[in-house]
Amino acid sequence: MTIFQKIIDRQIPADIVYEDELCLAFRDISPQAPTHVLVIPKRAIASLASLEAEDAPLLGHLCHTVAKIAKQLGLSNGYRVVVNCGPDGGQSVDHLHFHLLGGRPLQWPPG
Ligand code: AMP
Repeated sequence: MTIFQKIIDRQIPADIVYEDELCLAFRDISPQAPTHVLVIPKRAIASLASLEAEDAPLLGHLCHTVAKIAKQLGLSNGYRVVVNCGPDGGQSVDHLHFHLLGGRPLQWPPG
C-alpha cells in the first residue's frame, strides 16, 4: 500500500485542501514552492503510464479539479502542473498524482 493510499484511508494525516468522490488534494509534505499541492485520484492508479483509454473522464475531472483548486488557493498569477512518471521522471510514490506549484515565478527547464 502506498503512502497516498494511507492518506485516502485516513490512516495517516495530511493537510487536505479539497475532496470529492473521485479525488483528494493535500499539501505536499516537502513543498517546492509557496503553494505545493498534490491532487490524486482516489482509485489506486500507479502512474500516468498505467492509464487506460476509459480513464479519460477521470483524467478530465482531475485536470479540471487542479484548475479549480488553483483558483481556490488564489494562484491568479499562474502556476505549474507536473506529473512525474517512472524512475527517469522522478516519480517516488506509485500512485498517480498531479503536483500543483505556484506562489512564485518558476524556472524552466526543470533539471
Ligand atoms: P513524486 O516524487 O512525483 O512521486 O512526488 C511525491 C511527492 O509526495 C513528493 O513531493 C513528496 O514530498 C510528497 N509526499 C511524500 N509523502 C507525503 C506525505 N505523507 N504527505 C504529503 N506529501 C508527501
